[in-house]
Formats: sequence, C-alpha cells, structure tokens
Amino acid sequence: MAQAASFPYAFFEGKIVLIEEAKVNIMTHALQYGTGVFGGIRGYVSAEKQSVNVFRLQDHYARFLQSLKILGKSFKYTHPELVEITLALAKKNNPQTDCYFRPLAYASSYELAPDLSRVDFEFAMYMLPLKEYLSTSKGLRLMITHWTRINDNIIPSRGKVTGGYINSSLARAEAVRHGYDDALLLTHDGHLAEGSGSNFFMVREGVLITSPKYADVLEGITRRTVLELAQDLKIPAEEREIDLTEVYIAEEAFLTGTAAQVAWIADIDGRPIGDGKMGPITSKIQQLFFDIVRGKERKYSEWLTKV
Ligand code: PMP
Repeated sequence: MAQAASFPYAFFEGKIVLIEEAKVNIMTHALQYGTGVFGGIRGYVSAEKQSVNVFRLQDHYARFLQSLKILGKSFKYTHPELVEITLALAKKNNPQTDCYFRPLAYASSYELAPDLSRVDFEFAMYMLPLKEYLSTSKGLRLMITHWTRINDNIIPSRGKVTGGYINSSLARAEAVRHGYDDALLLTHDGHLAEGSGSNFFMVREGVLITSPKYADVLEGITRRTVLELAQDLKIPAEEREIDLTEVYIAEEAFLTGTAAQVAWIADIDGRPIGDGKMGPITSKIQQLFFDIVRGKERKYSEWLTKV
C-alpha cells in the first residue's frame, strides 16, 4: 500500500525547505548502516476543530535524546530547540487533518567504517496526514512471528534506532504474507515482547498486564499513558513477563503505539481472544484515550501542545 503524500515542507540541514529538496547523498553513513534515531509523534484535530493537539511532544523528544545518548552521541539541538522546530514546521504546513511527525537524527558523515565514534548527526523531519495505521475498530488478527525481538545487547531495543527496524520489517512482512494484520515478537527467552511497532497489553482475570521494560521492548509513550490511565480508572495493572500460552487464553488484548493508538486484538495465531469481541477494559481505555487526544478531557490537557 502506498503511503499518503507528505505535507509540502520538511526540516532539513538547519532550515525548513520543500520536501523535494530534503535529499541525502548515497554515501551517508545512516543510509549505509542504519545509524539513526527517530520518533513518531501524532497531531490530532481537536474536538471543536480549532487546533491540532500534538500528543506528549515533550516526552517524545526526551526519548529521542535518550536514544542518541544510548548511541553515545550528544546532539546539536537541545530539547527545547527540537520542540520549537516541530512547532515551526507544523505552523508552516498548517495541517487541517490528523497528522504524524517523523523526526530523524541521522549519521550524516560519509565515513566508511561502521563506527559511531567518528560520525556527526544531522536532524530532519517531515509530516504526513495520518488517520488509522492499524484498525482500532475491527479487531486485529496477529501472528507470533518466527523472528525474535532484538535483544538490548545486540541492537538497543529501548532506543528508537533506525537499524533496529529491520527486525520489525521482517516480522511484519512475515505476518502480512500469511494474511495477518501484524506480528507479535517474542524475546530470546520466549516471553512476549511487543508488536512490530507497538507495545502489547492483555487482560487476565481482570488484571491489565504488559511486558516489563526489561523484556526488550521500546519504552512506549502510549504504553506509559495506558498504565497511567489504568491507575486513574482503578483498573489493576501489572508490568511482568508474559508467557506465550498466556496470550492464547487472555480475556482481552490490545496494541498501543503512537501510530497504532489503542487497537484491540480479536485473534492471535488463529485463537480468538476472549469471545473475539472488544472487551470492557480495552473499550474503557480506548474511549478515554481518544477523548484525551481530541482535547475533551481537561484533566489531561498538559499532554497536549496546541498548534
Ligand atoms: N514498540 C516499537 C518497536 C515501536 O516502534 C513503537 C512506536 N514508536 C512502540 C513500541 C510504541 O511506542 P510509542 O507509544 O512511544 O509510539
């Protein structure tokens, strides 16, 4: 499926330019070796259609800079500067629809060696209109892939590093080839890690459960959001290792992510989850999440940056 066209303006090499002008040389280290870090941030048209609410912008750039730190790199832009660039680009593109920001820090040097110590990083960002990435209403059909989730000591799993997405791409391609919507990946020791671009939650005996931070997951901002919402909704929640066979007998399951939002799972490896319908805990969390991002819940307004 072809991706929708981007918005006309991008940030590239220190300024806002037309997207057609945002091009790199084929010798670029990041292109050759996957030496980059990136983010994915959503903007939602507010309920009264007055503004676009950028969701947890500050938290996204905190993780972005942490990913660079994991690679051992300091960055030419500070956290406030990255926020400022994002808002300037949003103003320039003036989105009237739900949208997605893709910031990227990439090794821009033409260094031959696969060596992070000698390369400089540049910053670039583009924006896309984005409605649903995975269906949040129909019930996803997922497959446990044969690809193991990258181990943190092999490619940093808690860093959002571009090269690591070979792992996601292989997993999702396998699932799609078999007719599923997406893949779930296990850790090297056989526990549930996460989806190809999302975190995993399930419900057992009324308790919301997600894999712990040490299970080679990306520390998702939506994952953190859902854990906070569960607390506010007085839904008991646990971060603990998940066995494969627990997944098959879960009462409810869903994926979370900036692109995925809160997307319920109907079936995993051909086994219906619960009765194959959206469960009550998933439904409560999904509804609150959508109300928050549209600006309908004042209590959570500090998570929104209006453009
Ligand atoms: N895991 C992976 C591998 C991802 O790519 C993403 C998307 N960034 C997530 C989890 C979810 O993270 P977030 O909620 O911060 O978007």
